Amino acid sequence: MRPYVLAETTWKSIKDSAIDLAVLPWGATEAHNYHLPFGTDNFMVEKIACESARLAYEKGTRLVVLPNIPFGVNTGQLDIRLNINMNPSTQMAVLNDITDVLVRHKIRKFMILNGHGGNDFKQIIRELGFRFPDIFICACNWYQSFETSDFFENGGGHADEMETSMMQFLFPELVLPLNEAGEGKGKKFSINALNQKWAWAERRWTRVTNDTGIGDPSKATPEKGEKCFNVIVDKLSTFMTDLASTSIEDMYK
Ligand SMILES: [Zn+2]
Repeated sequence: MRPYVLAETTWKSIKDSAIDLAVLPWGATEAHNYHLPFGTDNFMVEKIACESARLAYEKGTRLVVLPNIPFGVNTGQLDIRLNINMNPSTQMAVLNDITDVLVRHKIRKFMILNGHGGNDFKQIIRELGFRFPDIFICACNWYQSFETSDFFENGGGHADEMETSMMQFLFPELVLPLNEAGEGKGKKFSINALNQKWAWAERRWTRVTNDTGIGDPSKATPEKGEKCFNVIVDKLSTFMTDLASTSIEDMYK
């Protein structure tokens, strides 16, 4: 039983404990090329949340990790069999209810730890901040907490070398051999501004990739995954400790 993981702890240990920070991991249920499981984003974000929280907890940080939300925004992938879409407006409703509980129980800081590119919590956090002024809410995309090129040769972003390496390290029993993976070739937009990222449109996933992957996974190794994982949880545990120990009144200097 890890006392900092809500799903594993008991009311006896939680009822009188002081908690400064709640962390909500949020993934997605979606196809990941031919070699990674549908739950890839969930497995990874939950592992990263719990391991980072462990490091923070062992330094005295008073925090709790909530159960992962397994469905993300997959509106561009509705034609991929059993990709489960949760609309942004549903995410707003879910977050509204969770935030309401946290506020009632005097938890003043809330981190959404995101593990799926289609999830974007910024606008939701703005609206929640307007409804719940007494709690500090932030979102963090773990996959942006490091420089991909520091560890991996090929980028991409979906079932790519990074995700494959991390899964090979964390859940080797759930990864098929690399010779079963598709090449993860992703098409670009035919309009330049959209590729330069200062203009944005959702990608129709099945028009962009044949195997649902974007990014060549062929150079993935568990060793690369381990190195990257250690950097991520180290960074995130520091962030959790900083957040928990900074009062809402001292967020700016
Ligand atoms: Zn993924």
